[in-house]
Amino acid sequence: MCPQSDSLTTTNSYASYAAEISFFLEIVCVLAQTVEILLMQKLVQGIHRFQDGVFSSKQRMFEGLVEGQKPLALFITCSDSRINPNMLTQTEPGELFILRNAGNIVPPYGLAEGGEAATIEYAVSVLGVKDIVICGHSHCGAMGGLLDQSQLAKLPAVRSWLGHAESTYLIITENYAHVTDAAARLMATVEENVLVQLEHLRTHPTVVAALARSELDLHGWVYKFETGQVFSYRPNENQFLAIEGTSSTVLPSARELPPI
Ligand SMILES: [Zn+2]
Repeated sequence: MCPQSDSLTTTNSYASYAAEISFFLEIVCVLAQTVEILLMQKLVQGIHRFQDGVFSSKQRMFEGLVEGQKPLALFITCSDSRINPNMLTQTEPGELFILRNAGNIVPPYGLAEGGEAATIEYAVSVLGVKDIVICGHSHCGAMGGLLDQSQLAKLPAVRSWLGHAESTYLIITENYAHVTDAAARLMATVEENVLVQLEHLRTHPTVVAALARSELDLHGWVYKFETGQVFSYRPNENQFLAIEGTSSTVLPSARELPPI
């Protein structure tokens, strides 16, 4: 009978253990649902605050937007939630035409079916923007994945998308062996990727035509969100320099590019 007794004890033990696990999972599920509800509440409460505060105080400006848009620039940046182009440039609705994706990438013309080419074409040909900014940023997860592609094993779409940054990867691996610090290497990748994507931008017919008419300027920026600094690529110095005009630099590029 002892084995049977042991068996019963074990069975009871397993049943008790299973019940505890089930109870624990139920608690986790309820907590997760609660967190989700709270997060959605934050968004909805934000809408209420926007309608009662921001919209009310600028209602005339918002109503004027129905006449159309004449944005100051096309702003191409990463989807990263830590980047807020309008906050960064202190612009209002209607002033920036914004294109966002993982890694602020511009596929070369004709090599992708995505909306990037259509957005660029519309911005230049229809809206007549005079400036296009490609803005990378510090701690970019997409550029981190480009450097360490083991992170992309279960992300086939991201891996495929980052194929448009293959040149960036080669520039870093073949020219930045001397940069071994992980943070510095990532920042160099962010910078070089901005320059690579600017080159891709030059393959788009509307951009080429507008540049030929001297009606368009291209700009490469890197935003360091933890300090609020923005660095702009200066072709003559072949460096990204702080926009506020100091001599502060991120990292010198290892190659020459034609003037932007
Ligand atoms: Zn990013």
